[in-house]
Amino acid sequence: MALEVTPVPCLEDNYAYVLRCTATGACAVVDPSDADVVLAALRALDARPSMILNTHHHLDHVAGNEALAAAFPGIAVIAHVSDRGRVPAQTASVENFDKVSLGDVTLQAMHVPGHSLGDVAWAAPDAAFTGDTLFLAGCGRIFEGHPQMMLTSLDRLATELDPRTRIYCGHEYTVKNLRFALTVEPGSADLVEALRFAESQRAAGTPTVPHTLANELRTNPFLRCDDDAFADAIGVRGGPLAVFTHLRELRNAF
Ligand SMILES: [Zn+2]
Repeated sequence: MALEVTPVPCLEDNYAYVLRCTATGACAVVDPSDADVVLAALRALDARPSMILNTHHHLDHVAGNEALAAAFPGIAVIAHVSDRGRVPAQTASVENFDKVSLGDVTLQAMHVPGHSLGDVAWAAPDAAFTGDTLFLAGCGRIFEGHPQMMLTSLDRLATELDPRTRIYCGHEYTVKNLRFALTVEPGSADLVEALRFAESQRAAGTPTVPHTLANELRTNPFLRCDDDAFADAIGVRGGPLAVFTHLRELRNAF
């Protein structure tokens, strides 16, 4: 059983993903934000998707739903139950822990609100599609939730996914996120190396996705809010929520 993932850069800095179960050829698209670009990617891969998995309702993640639904009659369009009415062409709803099958691959919906209220991370055994909740070296802005809600969602991803899980996020923000992380922790050898590598990838036109969760646990400041040594190093007292809120405010202004 294996899941093949093809990142499809869309719009300015979004990622859609084409997923394929290598055993059965079953195919899905995560967050088709630009129908033309995604349809071209599907043609190049000779792939016919049976489902769209949306991470949340924002237009830069769902704008291609209608056109793909027209191109592939009968395609399932799946998003969180609370996003019904906000996700175009939605045909099915999931709640926390619900599972969908893509050929031999099972993807579990993890409800991870905070960025919006209906965010879902789609977790396969060795890959997770985290939308605008968890970015590489960062996390999404809080638009509909509140800081504790977002922190709880990030904690779930950090603790419930296997550290070897490949993280595929919704935007290419990695270089800027690592530059921000270095302002919080100047001189961190891990961050300097991660930034150097991410910059070389971008210079070559290569996506920085995926990183493993293990890598993120080491370098993503938003996944280290419960690390006392980290809190001491950045001079924040008051526990994980205080650290998270401080980091999010700094990042919003970065
Ligand atoms: Zn969003």
